[in-house]
Amino acid sequence: MATYKGECFCGAVQVEASGEPEGMGYCHCSSCRSWSAGPVNAFTLWKPEAVRVTRGAEQLGMYQKTPVSQRQFCKKCGGHVMTNHPPLGLVDVYAATIPALKFAPGVHVNYAETVLPMRDGLPKFKDFPKEFGGSGDQVAE
Ligand SMILES: [Zn+2]
Ligand SMILES: [Zn+2]
Repeated sequence: MATYKGECFCGAVQVEASGEPEGMGYCHCSSCRSWSAGPVNAFTLWKPEAVRVTRGAEQLGMYQKTPVSQRQFCKKCGGHVMTNHPPLGLVDVYAATIPALKFAPGVHVNYAETVLPMRDGLPKFKDFPKEFGGSGDQVAE
């Protein structure tokens, strides 16, 4: 089984994800943008049991603004590591956290909020696909 190692900005927190992600894509929501200070969040989704914190668990902080997202970061460097989505039963290990995984995005979510249109031909959901509790509505690029 493939294992993808990752770490925070300073390396105090190390994680690994095993197997293959359940899905990959981009989130354009204002929460991701505000928290990451980037125009878009590249996500890879994993079952919680596929993700392990292998070092520095005590340095892992968490901030939860909404019930959907427990955003986890390194308390030492402030680097972002991953976001747990309890209602979905999935963990987003940011694509940038595990660089050895070949990022193969399949979808854009919350595209109605985009500040960085990406004309790549992938499906663009206004919010989320139906199976993730969204409207399932798609919008034009
Ligand atoms: Zn760190
Ligand atoms: Zn988002």
